[in-house]
Amino acid sequence: MTHLMNTYNRLPVAFTHGKGARLYDAQGREYLDALAGIAVNGLGHAHPKLVAALQDQVARLIHTSNIYRVTEQEQLADRICALSGMQEVFFGNSGSEANEGALKLVRLYGHKNGEPAAQTIVMENAWHGRTLATLAATGSDKARKGFEPLPSGFIRVPYNDLAAVRRAADADPRVRAVWIEVLQGEGGIQVADLDFIRGLRRLADERGWLLMIDEVQSGIGRTGKWFAHQWAGIRPDVMTLAKGLGSGVPIGACVAAGRAAGVFGPGNHGTTFGGGPLAMRAGLETLAIIEAEGLMTNAVEQGDRIRRGLERELANLAGVREIRGRGLMIGVELDRPCGELVRAALDACLLINVTHDNVIRMLPPLVIDSVEADLIVDRLAPLVKSFLAAPARAA
Ligand SMILES: *Cc1c(COP(=O)(O)O)cnc(C)c1O
Repeated sequence: MTHLMNTYNRLPVAFTHGKGARLYDAQGREYLDALAGIAVNGLGHAHPKLVAALQDQVARLIHTSNIYRVTEQEQLADRICALSGMQEVFFGNSGSEANEGALKLVRLYGHKNGEPAAQTIVMENAWHGRTLATLAATGSDKARKGFEPLPSGFIRVPYNDLAAVRRAADADPRVRAVWIEVLQGEGGIQVADLDFIRGLRRLADERGWLLMIDEVQSGIGRTGKWFAHQWAGIRPDVMTLAKGLGSGVPIGACVAAGRAAGVFGPGNHGTTFGGGPLAMRAGLETLAIIEAEGLMTNAVEQGDRIRRGLERELANLAGVREIRGRGLMIGVELDRPCGELVRAALDACLLINVTHDNVIRMLPPLVIDSVEADLIVDRLAPLVKSFLAAPARAA
Protein backbone atom coordinates (compact mmCIF):
# COMPACT_ATOMS: atom_id res chain seq x y z
CA MET A 1 0.00 0.00 0.00
CA THR A 2 1.50 3.28 -1.07
CA HIS A 3 0.35 6.87 -1.21
CA LEU A 4 1.99 7.43 -4.58
CA MET A 5 -0.20 8.02 -7.60
CA ASN A 6 -0.24 4.91 -9.69
CA THR A 7 1.68 6.24 -12.70
CA TYR A 8 4.47 3.63 -12.87
CA ASN A 9 4.68 -0.14 -12.87
CA ARG A 10 7.85 -0.18 -10.82
CA LEU A 11 10.39 -2.95 -10.66
CA PRO A 12 10.81 -4.45 -7.18
CA VAL A 13 14.15 -2.86 -6.37
CA ALA A 14 15.37 0.35 -4.71
CA PHE A 15 18.99 1.40 -4.85
CA THR A 16 20.93 2.82 -1.94
CA HIS A 17 24.09 4.02 -3.67
CA GLY A 18 26.14 3.79 -6.82
CA LYS A 19 29.63 4.10 -8.22
CA GLY A 20 30.36 4.58 -11.91
CA ALA A 21 28.25 2.14 -13.91
CA ARG A 22 27.31 0.11 -10.80
CA LEU A 23 24.30 0.45 -8.51
CA TYR A 24 23.73 -1.29 -5.17
CA ASP A 25 20.56 -2.25 -3.30
CA ALA A 26 19.99 -2.56 0.45
CA GLN A 27 20.91 -6.27 0.33
CA GLY A 28 24.29 -5.33 -1.12
CA ARG A 29 23.52 -6.77 -4.55
CA GLU A 30 25.53 -5.09 -7.32
CA TYR A 31 23.82 -4.19 -10.60
CA LEU A 32 25.40 -3.16 -13.87
CA ASP A 33 23.61 -0.03 -15.04
CA ALA A 34 23.09 -0.13 -18.81
CA LEU A 35 20.31 2.47 -18.67
CA ALA A 36 21.83 5.38 -16.71
CA GLY A 37 18.51 6.61 -15.38
CA ILE A 38 17.26 6.78 -19.00
CA ALA A 39 20.24 8.65 -20.45
CA VAL A 40 20.57 10.98 -17.47
CA ASN A 41 23.59 9.69 -15.55
CA GLY A 42 26.15 10.05 -18.33
CA LEU A 43 28.94 10.39 -15.78
CA GLY A 44 27.75 7.27 -13.99
CA HIS A 45 26.91 7.46 -10.31
CA ALA A 46 28.73 9.53 -7.70
CA HIS A 47 31.40 10.90 -10.03
CA PRO A 48 33.88 12.43 -7.55
CA LYS A 49 34.41 15.67 -9.49
CA LEU A 50 30.68 16.23 -9.90
CA VAL A 51 30.03 15.45 -6.24
CA ALA A 52 32.68 17.97 -5.17
CA ALA A 53 31.33 20.69 -7.48
CA LEU A 54 27.75 20.18 -6.28
CA GLN A 55 28.78 20.14 -2.63
CA ASP A 56 30.62 23.39 -3.16
CA GLN A 57 27.61 24.91 -4.91
CA VAL A 58 25.07 23.78 -2.31
CA ALA A 59 27.14 25.44 0.38
CA ARG A 60 27.33 28.62 -1.69
CA LEU A 61 23.93 29.18 -3.38
CA ILE A 62 21.08 26.91 -4.49
CA HIS A 63 18.54 29.42 -5.74
CA THR A 64 18.17 33.13 -6.30
CA SER A 65 15.74 34.12 -9.06
CA ASN A 66 15.59 34.98 -12.72
CA ILE A 67 14.77 38.54 -11.72
CA TYR A 68 18.52 38.78 -11.04
CA ARG A 69 21.51 37.89 -13.16
CA VAL A 70 22.67 34.33 -12.55
CA THR A 71 26.37 34.06 -13.35
CA GLU A 72 26.40 30.26 -13.66
CA GLN A 73 23.46 30.51 -16.11
CA GLU A 74 25.36 32.91 -18.35
CA GLN A 75 28.39 30.62 -18.23
CA LEU A 76 26.44 27.49 -19.17
CA ALA A 77 24.66 29.31 -22.00
CA ASP A 78 28.06 30.46 -23.32
CA ARG A 79 29.35 26.92 -23.16
CA ILE A 80 26.34 25.35 -24.92
CA CYS A 81 26.49 27.98 -27.65
CA ALA A 82 30.22 27.44 -28.13
CA LEU A 83 29.69 23.67 -28.49
CA SER A 84 26.67 23.96 -30.80
CA GLY A 85 27.43 27.09 -32.82
CA MET A 86 24.07 28.45 -31.67
CA GLN A 87 23.18 31.79 -30.14
CA GLU A 88 20.91 31.85 -27.08
CA VAL A 89 19.51 29.58 -24.41
CA PHE A 90 16.45 29.44 -22.15
CA PHE A 91 16.83 27.09 -19.17
CA GLY A 92 14.00 25.10 -17.63
CA ASN A 93 13.83 21.98 -15.50
CA SER A 94 13.02 19.04 -17.80
CA GLY A 95 12.83 17.84 -21.37
CA SER A 96 9.12 18.55 -21.57
CA GLU A 97 9.68 22.09 -20.35
CA ALA A 98 12.49 22.70 -22.82
CA ASN A 99 10.18 21.45 -25.55
CA GLU A 100 7.26 23.59 -24.37
CA GLY A 101 9.60 26.57 -24.70
CA ALA A 102 10.47 25.48 -28.23
CA LEU A 103 6.79 25.17 -29.16
CA LYS A 104 5.96 28.59 -27.73
CA LEU A 105 8.87 29.94 -29.74
CA VAL A 106 7.46 28.50 -33.00
CA ARG A 107 4.08 30.05 -32.31
CA LEU A 108 5.53 33.45 -31.53
CA TYR A 109 7.75 33.15 -34.61
CA GLY A 110 4.56 32.55 -36.61
CA HIS A 111 2.78 35.53 -35.10
CA LYS A 112 5.76 37.76 -35.78
CA ASN A 113 6.00 36.54 -39.39
CA GLY A 114 2.41 36.81 -40.52
CA GLU A 115 1.16 33.32 -39.60
CA PRO A 116 -0.95 33.33 -36.41
CA ALA A 117 -1.76 29.60 -36.76
CA ALA A 118 1.76 28.23 -37.28
CA GLN A 119 1.83 24.45 -37.79
CA THR A 120 4.71 22.18 -36.84
CA ILE A 121 5.44 19.01 -38.77
CA VAL A 122 6.20 16.18 -36.33
CA MET A 123 7.17 12.54 -36.81
CA GLU A 124 5.40 9.24 -36.30
CA ASN A 125 6.72 7.54 -33.15
CA ALA A 126 8.23 10.80 -31.93
CA TRP A 127 8.55 11.36 -28.19
CA HIS A 128 8.58 14.96 -26.97
CA GLY A 129 7.14 14.74 -23.45
CA ARG A 130 4.03 14.47 -21.32
CA THR A 131 2.80 18.04 -20.90
CA LEU A 132 -0.27 18.76 -23.02
CA ALA A 133 1.51 20.42 -25.95
CA THR A 134 4.48 18.04 -26.00
CA LEU A 135 2.05 15.12 -25.72
CA ALA A 136 0.15 16.45 -28.74
CA ALA A 137 3.46 16.43 -30.64
CA THR A 138 4.31 12.94 -29.40
CA GLY A 139 3.57 10.09 -31.80
CA SER A 140 2.41 7.51 -29.27
CA ASP A 141 -1.36 6.87 -29.39
CA LYS A 142 -1.03 5.00 -26.10
CA ALA A 143 0.47 8.04 -24.33
CA ARG A 144 -2.06 10.48 -25.85
CA LYS A 145 -5.20 8.39 -25.33
CA GLY A 146 -7.62 9.87 -22.81
CA PHE A 147 -6.01 13.29 -22.62
CA GLU A 148 -7.90 14.97 -25.42
CA PRO A 149 -8.60 17.77 -26.11
CA LEU A 150 -4.92 18.32 -26.87
CA PRO A 151 -3.44 21.54 -28.26
CA SER A 152 -3.55 21.71 -32.06
CA GLY A 153 -0.90 22.88 -34.48
CA PHE A 154 0.78 19.60 -35.42
CA ILE A 155 0.92 17.64 -38.67
CA ARG A 156 2.32 14.11 -38.37
CA VAL A 157 4.34 12.40 -41.10
CA PRO A 158 6.43 9.19 -41.29
CA TYR A 159 10.03 9.41 -40.01
CA ASN A 160 12.86 9.47 -42.54
CA ASP A 161 10.50 10.42 -45.39
CA LEU A 162 11.48 13.78 -46.86
CA ALA A 163 8.88 13.54 -49.64
CA ALA A 164 6.14 13.17 -46.99
CA VAL A 165 7.36 16.34 -45.25
CA ARG A 166 7.27 18.18 -48.55
CA ARG A 167 3.77 16.89 -49.36
CA ALA A 168 2.46 17.90 -45.92
CA ALA A 169 3.91 21.37 -46.37
CA ASP A 170 2.47 21.76 -49.85
CA ALA A 171 -0.94 20.82 -48.45
CA ASP A 172 -0.80 23.38 -45.63
CA PRO A 173 0.80 26.79 -46.16
CA ARG A 174 0.70 27.49 -42.41
CA VAL A 175 3.69 25.21 -41.70
CA ARG A 176 6.48 27.13 -39.97
CA ALA A 177 8.55 24.40 -38.37
CA VAL A 178 9.62 20.79 -38.60
CA TRP A 179 10.64 18.84 -35.52
CA ILE A 180 12.67 15.65 -35.24
CA GLU A 181 14.73 13.54 -32.90
CA VAL A 182 17.99 12.53 -34.62
CA LEU A 183 17.56 9.15 -32.96
CA GLN A 184 14.09 8.34 -31.69
CA GLY A 185 14.66 7.10 -28.16
CA GLU A 186 11.25 6.11 -26.79
CA GLY A 187 10.23 5.37 -30.38
CA GLY A 188 12.57 2.36 -30.44
CA ILE A 189 16.07 3.69 -31.23
CA GLN A 190 15.15 4.58 -34.81
CA VAL A 191 18.02 6.44 -36.48
CA ALA A 192 17.42 9.34 -38.87
CA ASP A 193 19.23 9.05 -42.19
CA LEU A 194 21.82 11.81 -42.38
CA ASP A 195 20.42 12.75 -45.79
CA PHE A 196 16.95 13.14 -44.26
CA ILE A 197 18.34 15.61 -41.71
CA ARG A 198 20.26 17.51 -44.39
CA GLY A 199 17.18 17.51 -46.60
CA LEU A 200 15.11 19.01 -43.78
CA ARG A 201 17.78 21.68 -43.28
CA ARG A 202 17.55 22.64 -46.95
CA LEU A 203 13.75 22.57 -46.94
CA ALA A 204 13.56 24.73 -43.80
CA ASP A 205 15.88 27.27 -45.42
CA GLU A 206 13.93 27.30 -48.68
CA ARG A 207 10.65 27.92 -46.89
CA GLY A 208 11.71 30.03 -43.91
CA TRP A 209 10.79 27.35 -41.34
CA LEU A 210 12.46 26.57 -38.08
CA LEU A 211 14.31 23.25 -38.04
CA MET A 212 13.83 22.00 -34.49
CA ILE A 213 15.82 19.11 -33.09
CA ASP A 214 14.91 17.36 -29.84
CA GLU A 215 18.24 16.23 -28.40
CA VAL A 216 16.83 15.59 -24.93
CA GLN A 217 17.94 11.95 -25.09
CA SER A 218 20.57 11.95 -27.86
CA GLY A 219 22.52 15.04 -26.78
CA ILE A 220 25.42 15.65 -24.39
CA GLY A 221 27.92 13.24 -25.87
CA ARG A 222 25.78 10.11 -25.88
CA THR A 223 26.22 9.34 -29.59
CA GLY A 224 29.87 10.39 -29.64
CA LYS A 225 29.30 14.03 -30.59
CA TRP A 226 28.04 16.73 -28.27
CA PHE A 227 24.78 16.72 -30.20
CA ALA A 228 23.65 13.90 -32.48
CA HIS A 229 22.71 16.27 -35.33
CA GLN A 230 26.42 17.15 -35.63
CA TRP A 231 26.90 13.78 -37.37
CA ALA A 232 24.95 15.32 -40.27
CA GLY A 233 27.11 18.44 -40.27
CA ILE A 234 24.13 20.78 -39.96
CA ARG A 235 22.97 23.28 -37.35
CA PRO A 236 19.32 23.47 -36.26
CA ASP A 237 17.42 26.67 -35.54
CA VAL A 238 16.08 25.29 -32.28
CA MET A 239 17.57 22.50 -30.17
CA THR A 240 16.31 21.15 -26.88
CA LEU A 241 18.40 19.44 -24.21
CA ALA A 242 17.73 17.93 -20.82
CA LYS A 243 18.45 14.37 -19.66
CA GLY A 244 22.25 14.12 -19.70
CA LEU A 245 22.93 17.81 -19.20
CA GLY A 246 22.64 17.93 -15.41
CA SER A 247 23.78 14.38 -14.55
CA GLY A 248 20.61 13.96 -12.51
CA VAL A 249 20.05 17.49 -11.26
CA PRO A 250 16.83 18.58 -13.04
CA ILE A 251 17.55 20.81 -16.03
CA GLY A 252 16.28 21.54 -19.51
CA ALA A 253 17.47 23.90 -22.21
CA CYS A 254 15.88 25.42 -25.29
CA VAL A 255 18.63 26.69 -27.58
CA ALA A 256 18.03 29.00 -30.56
CA ALA A 257 19.98 30.30 -33.53
CA GLY A 258 19.47 32.14 -36.79
CA ARG A 259 15.79 32.86 -37.50
CA ALA A 260 14.82 31.50 -34.07
CA ALA A 261 17.15 33.79 -32.11
CA GLY A 262 15.67 36.98 -30.73
CA VAL A 263 12.07 35.77 -30.99
CA PHE A 264 11.39 35.84 -27.26
CA GLY A 265 11.43 39.16 -25.43
CA PRO A 266 10.88 40.00 -21.75
CA GLY A 267 7.51 38.71 -20.56
CA ASN A 268 7.12 36.06 -23.28
CA HIS A 269 8.40 33.14 -21.25
CA GLY A 270 9.75 32.40 -17.79
CA THR A 271 10.30 29.97 -14.93
CA THR A 272 10.81 30.11 -11.19
CA PHE A 273 13.34 27.30 -10.83
CA GLY A 274 14.87 27.10 -14.30
CA GLY A 275 18.47 28.21 -14.65
CA GLY A 276 19.16 28.08 -10.92
CA PRO A 277 22.77 28.04 -9.72
CA LEU A 278 22.76 24.39 -8.62
CA ALA A 279 21.49 23.00 -11.93
CA MET A 280 23.77 25.32 -13.89
CA ARG A 281 26.78 24.18 -11.93
CA ALA A 282 25.77 20.57 -12.60
CA GLY A 283 25.61 21.37 -16.32
CA LEU A 284 28.94 23.18 -16.40
CA GLU A 285 30.68 20.39 -14.49
CA THR A 286 29.07 17.67 -16.62
CA LEU A 287 30.31 19.26 -19.85
CA ALA A 288 33.78 19.84 -18.37
CA ILE A 289 34.12 16.22 -17.24
CA ILE A 290 32.90 14.80 -20.57
CA GLU A 291 35.57 16.85 -22.32
CA ALA A 292 38.40 16.26 -19.84
CA GLU A 293 37.86 12.50 -19.71
CA GLY A 294 37.36 11.97 -23.45
CA LEU A 295 33.93 10.45 -22.84
CA MET A 296 32.61 11.06 -26.35
CA THR A 297 35.40 8.97 -27.86
CA ASN A 298 34.66 6.38 -25.22
CA ALA A 299 30.96 6.43 -26.13
CA VAL A 300 31.81 5.57 -29.74
CA GLU A 301 34.29 2.84 -28.77
CA GLN A 302 32.15 1.15 -26.14
CA GLY A 303 28.99 1.54 -28.20
CA ASP A 304 30.68 -0.20 -31.14
CA ARG A 305 31.98 -2.86 -28.80
CA ILE A 306 28.53 -3.59 -27.37
CA ARG A 307 26.90 -3.61 -30.80
CA ARG A 308 29.59 -5.92 -32.21
CA GLY A 309 29.18 -8.23 -29.23
CA LEU A 310 25.42 -8.31 -29.59
CA GLU A 311 25.72 -8.95 -33.31
CA ARG A 312 28.12 -11.82 -32.70
CA GLU A 313 25.73 -13.39 -30.17
CA LEU A 314 22.31 -12.51 -31.53
CA ALA A 315 22.29 -11.35 -35.13
CA ASN A 316 21.72 -14.78 -36.63
CA LEU A 317 18.86 -15.76 -34.34
CA ALA A 318 15.37 -16.02 -35.76
CA GLY A 319 13.40 -13.41 -33.84
CA VAL A 320 16.12 -10.74 -33.81
CA ARG A 321 15.16 -8.16 -36.41
CA GLU A 322 17.87 -5.54 -36.06
CA ILE A 323 20.64 -4.30 -33.79
CA ARG A 324 21.06 -0.56 -34.25
CA GLY A 325 21.95 2.78 -32.74
CA ARG A 326 24.84 5.19 -32.53
CA GLY A 327 27.38 5.49 -29.73
CA LEU A 328 25.75 4.55 -26.44
CA MET A 329 22.16 4.65 -27.71
CA ILE A 330 21.61 1.02 -28.58
CA GLY A 331 18.49 -0.90 -29.57
CA VAL A 332 17.83 -4.55 -30.30
CA GLU A 333 14.54 -5.02 -32.12
CA LEU A 334 12.85 -8.39 -31.72
CA ASP A 335 9.92 -9.75 -33.70
CA ARG A 336 7.66 -9.87 -30.60
CA PRO A 337 6.86 -7.87 -27.46
CA CYS A 338 9.62 -8.46 -24.94
CA GLY A 339 8.85 -6.34 -21.87
CA GLU A 340 9.43 -9.32 -19.60
CA LEU A 341 13.15 -9.17 -20.45
CA VAL A 342 13.50 -6.11 -18.21
CA ARG A 343 12.64 -8.19 -15.14
CA ALA A 344 14.76 -11.12 -16.30
CA ALA A 345 17.72 -8.77 -16.74
CA LEU A 346 17.15 -7.26 -13.30
CA ASP A 347 17.29 -10.75 -11.83
CA ALA A 348 20.62 -11.14 -13.67
CA CYS A 349 21.78 -7.82 -12.12
CA LEU A 350 21.63 -5.92 -15.42
CA LEU A 351 19.56 -2.75 -15.82
CA ILE A 352 18.05 -2.31 -19.27
CA ASN A 353 14.72 -1.18 -20.64
CA VAL A 354 12.28 -2.17 -23.36
CA THR A 355 10.66 0.53 -25.45
CA HIS A 356 8.13 0.49 -28.27
CA ASP A 357 7.05 -2.96 -26.95
CA ASN A 358 9.68 -4.94 -28.83
CA VAL A 359 12.95 -2.99 -28.69
CA ILE A 360 15.51 -3.71 -25.97
CA ARG A 361 17.09 -0.36 -25.17
CA MET A 362 20.49 0.31 -23.64
CA LEU A 363 21.75 3.77 -22.67
CA PRO A 364 24.82 3.02 -20.55
CA PRO A 365 26.73 5.79 -18.79
CA LEU A 366 29.43 7.39 -20.95
CA VAL A 367 32.06 6.31 -18.38
CA ILE A 368 31.51 2.60 -19.04
CA ASP A 369 34.71 0.63 -19.69
CA SER A 370 35.32 -2.31 -22.01
CA VAL A 371 35.02 -4.90 -19.23
CA GLU A 372 31.57 -3.53 -18.40
CA ALA A 373 30.65 -3.31 -22.08
CA ASP A 374 31.46 -7.01 -22.48
CA LEU A 375 29.55 -7.80 -19.30
CA ILE A 376 26.40 -6.18 -20.73
CA VAL A 377 26.63 -8.50 -23.73
CA ASP A 378 27.46 -11.53 -21.56
CA ARG A 379 24.47 -10.95 -19.32
CA LEU A 380 21.95 -9.93 -21.97
CA ALA A 381 22.64 -12.42 -24.77
CA PRO A 382 21.65 -15.60 -22.87
CA LEU A 383 18.44 -13.95 -21.67
CA VAL A 384 17.44 -13.02 -25.22
CA LYS A 385 18.32 -16.51 -26.47
CA SER A 386 16.21 -18.29 -23.88
CA PHE A 387 13.37 -15.77 -24.30
CA LEU A 388 13.27 -16.41 -28.04
CA ALA A 389 13.55 -20.17 -27.55
CA ALA A 390 10.59 -20.30 -25.17
CA PRO A 391 7.28 -21.29 -26.81
CA ALA A 392 5.18 -18.23 -27.62
CA ARG A 393 2.77 -17.49 -24.81
CA ALA A 394 -0.95 -17.54 -25.55
CA ALA A 395 -2.21 -14.00 -26.01
C1 LIG B 1 12.67 12.04 -22.17
C2 LIG B 1 12.39 12.82 -23.38
C3 LIG B 1 11.57 13.96 -23.32
C4 LIG B 1 10.84 14.37 -22.07
O1 LIG B 1 11.70 14.76 -21.06
P1 LIG B 1 11.16 14.87 -19.55
O2 LIG B 1 12.35 15.37 -18.79
O3 LIG B 1 10.75 13.49 -19.15
O4 LIG B 1 10.04 15.82 -19.55
C5 LIG B 1 11.43 14.71 -24.48
N1 LIG B 1 12.03 14.35 -25.63
C6 LIG B 1 12.81 13.27 -25.71
C7 LIG B 1 13.48 12.93 -27.01
C8 LIG B 1 13.01 12.45 -24.60
O5 LIG B 1 13.76 11.35 -24.70
